Amino acid sequence: IDWQEFDLNEIVDSALNILHAEAAKKQVAVSAEQSGRRLPVRADKVHLQQVILNLATNAIDAMVEAATADRKLVLHTTLHGDTKVEMSISDTGRGIPKDRLNSIFDAFYTTKPTGTGLGLSIARAIVETYGGKIWADNRVGGGAVFRFVLPLAEAT
Ligand code: ADP
Ligand code: MG
Repeated sequence: IDWQEFDLNEIVDSALNILHAEAAKKQVAVSAEQSGRRLPVRADKVHLQQVILNLATNAIDAMVEAATADRKLVLHTTLHGDTKVEMSISDTGRGIPKDRLNSIFDAFYTTKPTGTGLGLSIARAIVETYGGKIWADNRVGGGAVFRFVLPLAEAT
C-alpha cells in the first residue's frame, strides 16, 4: 500500500475528469457537491479512486439499463460527525431490490450479461482496509445511492 494523506475532494476531481467522456457518451449528467472543507484521509489514492470509479460506472450502467431519460449522477462529499468523512454516489437508475441491498456486495454477484460481479466486492474490501464502511440504499425519488465513510485523518 502506498500510504498518503490527501483530501478526498482531490480524487473526486480526478474521478470527474476520468468519467467525463464516458458519461457524455451515455447521456449522463454528472455533478459534484463537494464539501468546502478539506477532508483529509489516509489511504492509497489509487485504491480510493478505484472505489469511486467502480461505483460511478455501476451507476451509469444502471441508468442505461433502466433507459431513464433523466440520467443524473451525483458525487457528494461531506464531513460525517467529527471523526469521519462521507462520500455518496447517487443515480437515477432502476434502484436495487430491498432484499439485495447487501448481497450485491458478494463476489461474482452480477445481473449483467457480461458483468464480473467483482466491482462492489473489491470496493468493500478496499473501504474496509482503510477502516471504513460502505453500503447501498435506494433513493426516495428512485435510483440507488452508495455511501462510504472513512476515518478523517486529522482525528486519528
Ligand atoms: P458488475 O458491475 O460486474 O455486475 P458489481 O459488483 O460492480 O458487478 O455490481 C454487482 C451488481 O450490483 C450489478 O450487477 C447490479 O445488479 C447491482 N448494482 C450495482 N450498482 C448498482 C446501481 N447503481 N443501481 C442498481 N443496481 C446496481
Ligand atoms: Mg461493476
